[in-house]
Parts: sequence; structure tokens; C-alpha cells
Amino acid sequence: MHVIRDDGSLDSTLDPGAVVLRAPLMAVIRHKLLCWYDEVGRDLPWRQTRDPYAIWVSEVMLQQTRVETVIPYYERFLESFPTTHALAQADEDAVLSHWSGLGYYRRARLLHAGVREVVAEYGGEVPEDADARRALPGIGRYTAGAIGSIAFDKEEPIVDGNVARVLSRLLRIKTPIGAAVTTNRLWQEAARLVPGERPGDLNQALMELGATVCTPKKPRCESCPVAEACEALAHAEVETLPVPRPRKAPKEVKLTAVVATRGRGAERKVWLVKGDQPLFGGLWGVPMAEGSARIVLSDAGLRGRLGSDPVADVEHVLTHRRLRIDVYRAPAARAAESKTRRPFAAEELEGVGVSTLTRKVLAAAL
Ligand code: SF4
Repeated sequence: MHVIRDDGSLDSTLDPGAVVLRAPLMAVIRHKLLCWYDEVGRDLPWRQTRDPYAIWVSEVMLQQTRVETVIPYYERFLESFPTTHALAQADEDAVLSHWSGLGYYRRARLLHAGVREVVAEYGGEVPEDADARRALPGIGRYTAGAIGSIAFDKEEPIVDGNVARVLSRLLRIKTPIGAAVTTNRLWQEAARLVPGERPGDLNQALMELGATVCTPKKPRCESCPVAEACEALAHAEVETLPVPRPRKAPKEVKLTAVVATRGRGAERKVWLVKGDQPLFGGLWGVPMAEGSARIVLSDAGLRGRLGSDPVADVEHVLTHRRLRIDVYRAPAARAAESKTRRPFAAEELEGVGVSTLTRKVLAAAL
């Protein structure tokens, strides 16, 4: 291990590899990051507020989703549900319809459940206490740290993909991302860096650096405020760090979807079902499962004439699975309507939570 001495020089007599930064250098890095963030940090809507609930919403939306995509969703969501009380009172369909298109709907359901608990247990105030925050549904170490540092000015660390990349390069961490040893190390380093003034801004500066300068490909080291302290740059290892986790190829899954309709022309409605299938996360969707079209149709409680061949072949890639879906049509389909099965007119589909996959299948079939 290289150790940077208090005077800033490198002690390389120890094990080569990752670096441990001493306090004075940490302080310099902190200072440079904050100055840089003040100068060039992007003006994003969730940076205009210290409301822990709004920050919570933004952090949940930003998980696995790009900033540009999130902005309009965040604004619409807070317009409809401006407070914890408003969100707690909303029904799930209304919440999911505001999430429709963002994907990973489980996030929305957990946010809803977490906010309901905040209203039931804490009178609608997001708890300042870190353990109480961490105990809420859907709040893990990252989200708790983001709310704690940004809304409450607490010295709580956060590590997301951007922070992991910056710290791995800065400290020349060579164990693979995702390995327990790396995760522990990254959280420890983030916890060493966060204490001091403006912990929320420090965390946001690290994320911002990863998002805009220390990017996965072609990082702009020439514009980096902490380049002088960067071990990956000093050792010409920027391109090879962080070490990626070994990837498994996504598993291919073959599914059958049936677009069952009732009526013709402008009167046409499409039958959707609402189940607990993990694929849809509680949203309305076209009947879809493994097996033949006849079985899919009858399992959804529908009767009707099926076309003999699929009318479309849709591909949909999730993180760990590649779905190949044969799409069949069943015109003039019938069923008893219920809370979890009913026909929708085209214009109604805009107002309900429908998964991106279902929209893709409908577009291919109709
Ligand atoms: S110098 Fe380059 S690799 Fe190092 S932290 Fe800055 S942008 Fe990342």
C-alpha cells in the first residue's frame, strides 16, 4: 500500500496498489472539489431545495436513470404530490402512472410505502436520525446518506456508480467493482472524505465529477480539480480503472403476449390485466407469460379467437434478461370485468400505469 505522508509525498515502501490518503491531503481534495462544484455544478431542480422528501424522490428516480430523463418526471411528480401527506394519500395507480416510462416500478412502490410509513410513524416528517431513515422501506445506505447529507447537513457518506469510479481512480483501487472488499473500501473512503463543511455539497461534487468529468470513457483529466492527487493518472491507469465486475450474459427468456381487443375502429378497446408479475411491478399489462398463446389467453380469464401466427416479435432487454416476445392478436375477446381485468380505450392508456414493455407490445400489434 502506498501512503501519502502528511507533507504530501508518497511512501512507496509498502505494498504497491491502493493508496490511503492522509488527512491534510483529504482536506485539499475536499476544498478543491467544493470550489469546483460551486463554479461548474449543474443547476438541477432538486438542487434548489433542502426538503428531504423532494430529495428522496429525486434520488429514487435517479437510480438507474439519466438526469435528463428524470427532470420532467420529478417536476410532474412533485406538482401532483408536493408533500409526504399528498403522496401517502394517493392510490397506487396514480403514483405508478406518474412513473410510467421511467421503468423499475418497484422503486415507485417502495417510495410510496416508505412515505406512508413516514406519515404514519413520524407525522409526515422524514426522520433526521440515520437509523430511523435506514429502517424505512426502499431506503438503503445510499439513499439514506443522500437525504442525510443534502437535506440535514449530516456527515453521511454516499457511494453510487459515479462516486465509485472517482474514488477507484483517485485512490487506484484495483479490486473489481461489486466485490465485497471493494464496496467496503469505497464506503470507508467516502466516510473519511465527507466530514467537514457542507457534507451534502461534497457528496454532490463527487457525483458531479463522476457524471461530467471522470466519466467511464474518455475522462477529461485536464479539467479535473483533483488531477494532481489522482493516483490512476499518475500511473497512467485511468483507462483500466475501475476494474469492472465480471459480467454474466443476460439470460434469454421466450414469452408469449396476447393483445386481446373488443370492438372495432374508434370503439376498439384493449384488454389489460393487473397481476403481481415481477415484470410489471403491479402495473396494467397485456397478458404475457411463457407458454402457448391459448394458455396465456385463458390464464388471463379471456376467451376469443386467436390468430394462428404471431403478428410481431418484440425484444426487450432488462438488466439480467433478454426477453423475446411472440405477440398474438385476439380480436373480439370476452371476459368478465374485474378490478384486475378490464378493457381500455386508447386514450385511457395515458392516464394509467402501463409498463414500457406493454406499450412496446401494443405498438407492435395494433
Ligand atoms: S484526474 Fe482523471 S481519472 Fe483522476 S479523478 Fe480526475 S478525471 Fe478522474
